[in-house]
Amino acid sequence: MDVKIGLEIHCQLTNLRTKLFCNCSSDYRGDEPNTHICPICMGLPGTLPLLNEKALEDGVAVALALNSEIQPKMTFYRKNYFYPDMPKNFQISQFDGGDGVPIAKGGFVDLDVGRRIKIRRIQIEEDPAKLVYSGTIDTAEEVLIDYNRAGIALVEIVTEPDIRTPREARLFLQKLRDILEFLGVSDGSLEGSMRCDANISLGGGTRVEIKNISSFKEVERALRFEITRQKRLSAEGLTVQRETRHWDESRRITVSLRVKETEEDYRYFPEPDIMPVVVSEQYVDAVRGALPELPHRKKDRYVEDLNVPVQNAAILSRNLRLSQLFERCVGLGADPVEASNWIVGDLLSYLRELDLSLEDPKVRAEHLVEMLRLIEDGLISGKIAKEVLLESLKTGKSPKRIVEERGLMKIGDEELLERLVEEVFRENRRAVLDARLNEEAVNYLIGQVMKKTAGKADPVLTSKLVRLKLSQIEVG
Ligand SMILES: [Zn+2]
Repeated sequence: MDVKIGLEIHCQLTNLRTKLFCNCSSDYRGDEPNTHICPICMGLPGTLPLLNEKALEDGVAVALALNSEIQPKMTFYRKNYFYPDMPKNFQISQFDGGDGVPIAKGGFVDLDVGRRIKIRRIQIEEDPAKLVYSGTIDTAEEVLIDYNRAGIALVEIVTEPDIRTPREARLFLQKLRDILEFLGVSDGSLEGSMRCDANISLGGGTRVEIKNISSFKEVERALRFEITRQKRLSAEGLTVQRETRHWDESRRITVSLRVKETEEDYRYFPEPDIMPVVVSEQYVDAVRGALPELPHRKKDRYVEDLNVPVQNAAILSRNLRLSQLFERCVGLGADPVEASNWIVGDLLSYLRELDLSLEDPKVRAEHLVEMLRLIEDGLISGKIAKEVLLESLKTGKSPKRIVEERGLMKIGDEELLERLVEEVFRENRRAVLDARLNEEAVNYLIGQVMKKTAGKADPVLTSKLVRLKLSQIEVG
């Protein structure tokens, strides 16, 4: 069945020091409830909101990065509703319709799987308060309200209903988070900094909205659940109701919150206290000029300036933290190609294996560079290096220390290796005979020497000694 998913993502602009319309600190996490509030963000009579200019700059930067068209004159609206999460009974937001103009319209995000997801609009608005339910949302008898979050600057990104699967929704959100991280406007690792509502309809049927999903994993789960629920309803001949549902993470089900308000129910009025904001071309050009290096530019630079293989460059430039790790290695003097191979290859697969994130303090550029230097100086083989890297990620110990503690230095002692080669030749007469005609047998002999030294023999020297010995046999 044809599935259509649209997403509405709210991202806190976590790089701002104050809220969207007042000077309350936006660094509220972990603080006592209702300690970051003032008459403006509480909407007390007689107060005037004052637009945080940095929020406008962030909004324009986000719009540019998402290929969205910035509107020359944007307006603020009051979204009226009776709900305790805004003490003034309205949220200052933007509105696309009537006289309302959001900061940007249109745009797109290209997913790495080759799909383009279209953006409908981008707007700036204030975050409502945080509601804390005692128990679950549908049964709680009381609700606590923390207004510290009320008034925090958000950028809201609304997609067209272009997404076809729950998996695609997750990929889109990951990509969006990566872009925002590159821009430096929003730190997706902060709790609740990125929240998502999803609209979903099946086979052109009724649209159901799922509210306030907190993580990408949960978005995928919630959508999966909702598809199954709606399919089951249709199979039983029941109609899907147009409603707003809540995703209950602990029970992993969606529950009905209310029959959906239409936009008219919200009652939008132009905000009389904030003048329309003119966004001039010069302003947009200035923001564009100050944009940090975005993934596609990074990728080109890695390939052109650092000779990194294209595939590695594509992976390294996709994620801010990964690109920072790589750039730090290069800054510390690592060979870019070698560093890129190790990061994209073994490092990423070990991180998956150990379930470690790139932010983990055990993942250190210094350690990677030290390991690369040990290989370069001929002190450990590539094979040993893999072991060393894995252990370094597990324990946080430096590669040098691991090599010393476990006696992993490469064996470059020629006499010792000669003796081992002779031993191997005695034990593998068949292979020695084959080796005159067959390169694979030569490799087998080399491999046997490596095995005797648990991979510590210098591979170049070993190969040389094995071939020398073979040539002597042929002569003799
Ligand atoms: Zn305030």
